[in-house]
Amino acid sequence: MSQTQVTVLDSVRRFLDRRHGLYIGGAWQESDCADRLDIFNPADGQPLASSADASASDVDRAVTSAWQAFSAGVWANCLPAERERILLHFATLVEQHGEELAQLETLEQGKSIAISRAFELGCTLNWMRYAAGLSTKITGQTLDLSIPLPAGARYQAWTRKEPVGVVAGIVPWNFPLMIGMWKIMPALAAGCSIVIKPSETTPLTLLRIAELASEAGIPDGVLNVVTGRGSVCGAALVSHPRVAKISFTGSTATGKQIARGAADRLTRLTLELGGKNPALVLKDADPQQVIEGLMTGSFLNQGQVCAASSRIYIEAPLFDTLVSGFEQAVKGLKVGAGMDPAHHINPLVSRGHQQKVAEFLHDAQQRGAQLIAGDTGPDNGGYYIAPTLVVNPDPTLRLYREEVFGPVVSLIRVDDAEQGLALANDSDYGLTASVWTQSLAQAMEYTRRLQAGTVWVNSHTLIDANLPFGGLKQSGTGRDFGPDWLDAYCETKSVCVRF
Ligand code: NDP
Repeated sequence: MSQTQVTVLDSVRRFLDRRHGLYIGGAWQESDCADRLDIFNPADGQPLASSADASASDVDRAVTSAWQAFSAGVWANCLPAERERILLHFATLVEQHGEELAQLETLEQGKSIAISRAFELGCTLNWMRYAAGLSTKITGQTLDLSIPLPAGARYQAWTRKEPVGVVAGIVPWNFPLMIGMWKIMPALAAGCSIVIKPSETTPLTLLRIAELASEAGIPDGVLNVVTGRGSVCGAALVSHPRVAKISFTGSTATGKQIARGAADRLTRLTLELGGKNPALVLKDADPQQVIEGLMTGSFLNQGQVCAASSRIYIEAPLFDTLVSGFEQAVKGLKVGAGMDPAHHINPLVSRGHQQKVAEFLHDAQQRGAQLIAGDTGPDNGGYYIAPTLVVNPDPTLRLYREEVFGPVVSLIRVDDAEQGLALANDSDYGLTASVWTQSLAQAMEYTRRLQAGTVWVNSHTLIDANLPFGGLKQSGTGRDFGPDWLDAYCETKSVCVRF
């Protein structure tokens, strides 16, 4: 063990050793299905724990529990200040168990313990407290009307926001705790109940979160966690007739499948799907700032970030300088297990995903692409992929157009900013983009014309609870975060009074 390797807490070892069930109605319940799903440590490919493989009838139990809690009003009818107080207490408990949750996250997901601490915990706490505060800021409007009948009658109207009901949250494997909280917190702040399903690859942190929610005082049945396969448990959850709203984060293909099913029942839907996000580097950009910002933007969490920069368009005068700067930076990255914070790049989440990313690179290699690769990591059965730059890829390469979701980024020389803009916008996706320049006028011009839900200037991938986030085109529909975050979890009721 290296000197910088983190020692696993006893509480983490005890949690891993448990036989995990489903969290329904404020208690652990066994699944109807005897099968178990293995969870592996991506750092060495060894089994870590197992989780329940929920059936459709398990999901029905969880949704029924959420529905009963919602109908009884045990949470929805709480005073808003009481909901806020309990949710803030929930955040405090998560903070107090921060190291335990961070270690669980690194062990099951593979990411650096430093990233688990800073993002999965540190940033998540910001989001939790921000959402908790929205509980007491739910507002409608008062409206003057012009109804002319019957003669002499006058009217006054207002709108109120009411919780939509039972929410189904489907969480991917790249940030299991943080993205889980992006669904749990607004749902609970609005007064909804929720059934949440983590990915079968990374279910552990949300299972622990369920216990902390009960300890914080969130009533039984308001937050339920079911674990299992997407095709069985996930599909049963999103198609359950008692579910009023789906919040899904994951691939565009699964998102479309869920949207088709939701259309039949007119279930409310927020979809946060993939991205193939461009960065447009203009010739007056600061090279050092570009390299620092886009190394993080491209390689954070091994590139398994929907907002990551994966296509970097560079104006010709800066191209050679930046290619050699990125090469030096990539070759300086140390690849290894996430439990050692000295490692900059860690394993991908699963063997299947590692193979998928390797296939993109193999295809590019076969077709003669210029690849610059860094450290390949230990040969110990872990799911490692070397951080890789692809210089001027042919636009027909799969990795140029499709979401790779790995530590792979393309550097593309463009003659001028207009050519870069046209190429940046030539994508089915529209989640994020960035423009790099010292010129205010150029920044204003290109932030308007880049087709993305979020556009940064001189940074990339950095998000905040107070800044709405979501995609254009095939990157999804709806927005998370910001002052209007709870709108997606509420219905607007209009009340009209004659006097
Ligand atoms: P999926 O979209 O299949 O998985 C995301 C979540 O959806 C998981 O919890 C999964 O469960 C669940 N799920 C799968 N099928 C269904 C279904 N029919 N109904 C309801 N829920 C379902 O993504 P993958 O894990 O297959 O990853 C594929 C690609 O998606 C990645 O390579 C990446 O490009 C992209 N992706 C994008 C993310 C983003 O943040 N936008 C996050 C993750 C992936 P389970 O895992 O148990 O099958």
